[in-house]
Amino acid sequence: MKCAICNAEPAGYEPDAASASMLIRYRCQRCGTYRISRDTLTQLSALSPDDRRRLQATARQAWSRKNELTLTPNDLSFLIAGQPPRRTPMDSADALVLYLGARVAALHQTVTITPGEDFPLFNTLDGTELEYLIRLLTKELKLVDDSALHIATRCELRLTPAGWARYDELRRSNRQADRAFVAMWFDPTLAPVFDEAIAPALDAAGYRPDRIDRVHFPNKIDDEILARIKRCAVLVADFTSERDHPGGRGGVYFEVGYALGLGVPVIWTIRKDQLPKVHFDTRQYPFIDWSDAEDLKKRLADRIGALLPQ
Ligand SMILES: [Zn+2]
Repeated sequence: MKCAICNAEPAGYEPDAASASMLIRYRCQRCGTYRISRDTLTQLSALSPDDRRRLQATARQAWSRKNELTLTPNDLSFLIAGQPPRRTPMDSADALVLYLGARVAALHQTVTITPGEDFPLFNTLDGTELEYLIRLLTKELKLVDDSALHIATRCELRLTPAGWARYDELRRSNRQADRAFVAMWFDPTLAPVFDEAIAPALDAAGYRPDRIDRVHFPNKIDDEILARIKRCAVLVADFTSERDHPGGRGGVYFEVGYALGLGVPVIWTIRKDQLPKVHFDTRQYPFIDWSDAEDLKKRLADRIGALLPQ
């Protein structure tokens, strides 16, 4: 059986006993273990190679955090967007340095990397590119040391002192990686949506919700808001609004548009009864159509789980 995402063989394959909804569980050395619904399989075959690669990277990175993704037609575009496109190939070098630094507790320890299987972890194109990247980091940049073992298919890597300095630098510049920006109508009637659903779901996933809207002027977009959207790792947008503006106010649409333009992943939510009222141009997006705070908290937590930083 071939893996549904990367088409590589062999992949473990079994109907998911725990779900009544016809999910299939795949286990792939490259893409990790994930579940997929049958109607998603047909959608996958229509993806461009680049989108497929980004989906593979999202799935594998989630699996490395022991998080098994569920692929449904609704979530597909969100999971692809969860993997930012590489600005330059050196983004992958930084990802490898961060990965190594986060996984060793002592200087002499090493981390095993199998390029042919592990390349999606660093958003590299394939095993060949990852091998080249490791060579570059060891021989040229001297940030990584592979002297412990290097056989054809497997390397034992650790950071050099220069690599640790780079790791520190990356950690500092990434300090907003746990920031989530919340765009919503901050009206007292919607306070439970933030306090009982959005904030606890973000907290549980290790994100700090940015509540700037609460202390700023409501519905006014200023430079501080734009700067915070630029620095956040994810934006949660709830479009629920009052009777005169069902389907969301202009400010929320603006903030979401700005985030999408910057490549910040967006999670779309709205109370179920207002879903038909959202702006026509946004109906293609996978809204979480929640019924109450409890429902939103649970479904939001599921979706955020796919996005945790490494
Ligand atoms: Zn695969």
